Amino acid sequence: MKNIVISDEYNQVDLKPSELVKRYIALTQEDVRYLLASAKLSLCNCPACGAKERKTSFVKFSLTYQECGQCHTLYVSPRPDDKTLNDYYLKSAARTFWRDELSKATDRKRKEKIIKPRFQWILESTGEYFKTAQTWVDVNTGQYSYIDAMADANIFANKIILNPYLKIQQGDYQRVTIIQKPWWEYSVQNKADVISLFEVADHTSDVGGLMKFANHVLTDGGLCFLTTILSSGFDLQVLWDQADNLYPPDRLNCFSIKGLKSLFEKHGFECLEFSTPGILDVEIVAKAMQANPALDVPRFVRDLIENGDEEAKRSFQEFLQSACMSSYGRILLRKKF
Ligand SMILES: [Zn+2]
Repeated sequence: MKNIVISDEYNQVDLKPSELVKRYIALTQEDVRYLLASAKLSLCNCPACGAKERKTSFVKFSLTYQECGQCHTLYVSPRPDDKTLNDYYLKSAARTFWRDELSKATDRKRKEKIIKPRFQWILESTGEYFKTAQTWVDVNTGQYSYIDAMADANIFANKIILNPYLKIQQGDYQRVTIIQKPWWEYSVQNKADVISLFEVADHTSDVGGLMKFANHVLTDGGLCFLTTILSSGFDLQVLWDQADNLYPPDRLNCFSIKGLKSLFEKHGFECLEFSTPGILDVEIVAKAMQANPALDVPRFVRDLIENGDEEAKRSFQEFLQSACMSSYGRILLRKKF
């Protein structure tokens, strides 16, 4: 199985200017209070491995995170179902702010640092594993420049985006078919060769249903490109409940590698690549320590961050990638024949 290590230079501020992110999180907290706190919530087992054993870990925005006793995935339970979450995202002021302000402010950097490498990954991997691929289905892409890039991906004859949250007019995009419906309402006419799920499993209630859907949409041997944050990653292991980027409902699930592997196996996928090419873990912990000097972090981590030179920090981050211990996961799956 492949494990890709990426050496790149950019920082959190480029992609997530802290004032805008703070505003987004504050709006999310408000939205959760108004739109989710009174919704019907149901207890669930681990969304990755299915185990019942769990222990309550912490509460965020009045929702409770559990840690799976088997695979150590972190997940919200009790939780809203996907219809409730869909309704939440349609009404959410935070989501509107993200789409109209945050993503526009960071558009140029995101194009260069996220969208370009992501497309390179998809095009190269498809060339390697499924040369004759024609149809690509993407679930929930929310950035307009991503739609443009998808339109330009000429190796695919048919490109379909399923996303109920886009604000677009009929005819805005000629070369991509946009279906403004949630994934579970999509009726499959022709099987797809490729499906992409970028940070979709993170905020899906029925994760097993999503993987079943991916399997159903794909032809045999079809490819599934998936990204997610990982509870087994360095910054989340260190910061845990103190992590600013771990909150519901965007991170309803924060999977462990072990949990994901059992989820993929259960739903008929083989893993062709499992990489954690994150480059921000050390910086995220450093920022959290700066914001809260009394933060309880392991002595080794404090020493690295306060006394390590830039080269040591960079090498440590590269080690996290090569050992699959960064918190950003990039995974390529193939539907088994
Ligand atoms: Zn589990």
